[in-house]
Amino acid sequence: MSKEINNPGWNFDNSYNGLPKLLFTSQEPTPVRSPKLAVFNEPLAESLGLNVEALRSENGVFVFAGNKIPEGASPIAQSYAGHQFGHFTKLGDGRALLLGEHITPQGKRVDIQLKGSGRTPYSRGGDGRAALGPMLREYIISEAMYALGIPTTRSLAVVDTGEQVYRETALPGAILTRVAASHIRVGTFQFAAAWGTVEDLRKLADYSIKRHYPEIESNENPYLSLLQQVIEHQANLIAKWQLTGFIHGVMNTDNMAISGETIDYGPCAFMDTYDPATVFSSIDREGRYAYGSQPYIGGWNLARFAEALIPILHSDEEQGLKLAQDAISDYSKVYQENWLKGMRAKLGIMNEEAGDEALIENLLQLMKQNQADFTNTFRSLTLDQPEETGLTGISEFAQWHKQWKERLGRQPESIESAHEWMRKSNPAVIPRNHRVEEALKAAEKGDYRVMERLLNVLSSPYGYTGEQNEYCKPPAPSKIPYQTFCGT
Ligand code: AMP
Ligand code: MG
Repeated sequence: MSKEINNPGWNFDNSYNGLPKLLFTSQEPTPVRSPKLAVFNEPLAESLGLNVEALRSENGVFVFAGNKIPEGASPIAQSYAGHQFGHFTKLGDGRALLLGEHITPQGKRVDIQLKGSGRTPYSRGGDGRAALGPMLREYIISEAMYALGIPTTRSLAVVDTGEQVYRETALPGAILTRVAASHIRVGTFQFAAAWGTVEDLRKLADYSIKRHYPEIESNENPYLSLLQQVIEHQANLIAKWQLTGFIHGVMNTDNMAISGETIDYGPCAFMDTYDPATVFSSIDREGRYAYGSQPYIGGWNLARFAEALIPILHSDEEQGLKLAQDAISDYSKVYQENWLKGMRAKLGIMNEEAGDEALIENLLQLMKQNQADFTNTFRSLTLDQPEETGLTGISEFAQWHKQWKERLGRQPESIESAHEWMRKSNPAVIPRNHRVEEALKAAEKGDYRVMERLLNVLSSPYGYTGEQNEYCKPPAPSKIPYQTFCGT
């Protein structure tokens, strides 16, 4: 075999390691016994300029397993803090390592992170490991999010370690290779603000600006611009979650990326029946992170980000605080604009009328009262099959439907183009919990075909293909509510 074929194509740089030392600790992964590739994202590998064949080889898999450090990588565990369910805690990568930043042939810089790669100085009581089911779950859901057009970290590979991890029972262990714009979190700034100097905080902010928002570098107050950019990106992201029924489940400030990508897929899940109070996470007993609370919590987290930035927003603390408050007060408006724009698109509305918001709210109200399936209601309207919405026969819905048709009739575009627009705005399929569970169950027994079929269907959510019909069905009614788990 020629050298060329063996070259996986990794092109590492380690710019994060140039930041103040309190922000990370150098740490090698702990090798695992007998790693086997469980899933591998070939299209993603190719788009990153990596060599698929070389990555599938023993040496390639050893990198995904943490048994071999690729050339040019310099692994670190990142420090961060976070408000977890409202309580401020010192955290850090307890079971993840940043191998480095891969630079693609197009010059794009992405973090390559191993999750489940062994203990680090931040592990506290944890084993530094991850179980196969939750890592495959992150793979499925993050890739579904990507296909839905929602900013997200991505999953390059999952390796079955051949070792067991112990939770309530013994489970197969796994390591996920995650690709992200970066892993800089709101909590990274909180860490720098709480335990570093103002200079450390400034260096982190300068680095973040250079990496994510270079266009604001020469603004009059780049740190204020950074805050505004993060607010805008998060307002946009959370609106997209709401528009697809995605529930993150653990919106702690350590799980909010300043790049605006969805990060840390733990107890997340998609909502079937529309209800703003929906919570899946077993530990979220008070519903802090319920579907309907996500926009508010986003604002709360961003306020923590703004607080962390105060020392560099202005040399005078009072004035810094004022700048932070003004920026934060824009969040709800930006969120609402994004949400409204997205809801109009879901209903095929291409211009603006004052009554649109009421029309949207009325539909949501009917959906809630009648326990309508969120995705399928919009899918049925898209397909012009109102009888499939589950609201058929309800006189208020008939009236709403008439008003909506009249509304579409008042815009210059044809009804056909409105429905075309709806197809692009309403997914036919989402990763429904019962389908994800079914795929994970089979995979844990060694049969990956169910998961491959599911991944294939989820890769084109706006496809409206016949093959997807089977995957559109909501779960059979169950007495036991679906529950998700953290830190698994
Ligand atoms: P998460 O719930 O995955 O966002 O993790 C919250 C914090 O707990 C992070 O600092 C993780 O690194 C840490 N953590 C989660 N699971 C483990 C584990 N098995 N071993 C060590 N640290 C962990
Ligand atoms: Mg986390």
